[in-house]
Amino acid sequence: MRIVCPFCGERELGEFTYLGDAKPQRPAPVAGEDAVYEYVYLRDNIAGSMSEHWYHGGGCRAWLKVTRNTLTHEISAVAPAAGAGAAKVGA
Ligand SMILES: [Zn+2]
Repeated sequence: MRIVCPFCGERELGEFTYLGDAKPQRPAPVAGEDAVYEYVYLRDNIAGSMSEHWYHGGGCRAWLKVTRNTLTHEISAVAPAAGAGAAKVGA
């Protein structure tokens, strides 16, 4: 599997680290113990298209949001994750 980093171009999988489902959002501080438990421990087991966080540690060291089909490993989209220097794309 190869990932096209928006900053570095197409690179081999070994340069990246999988960080998991990009969907969970950190609950507000007052959300309660159940919301924190769900955020930390519970994940959907998706068979199909899934949005994931990957870290390009062997390249630009940016966090990326990758849309990947978990059945075929086909990658349909790669974008910088929030706060990963998105303004640099195309510069
Ligand atoms: Zn990169």
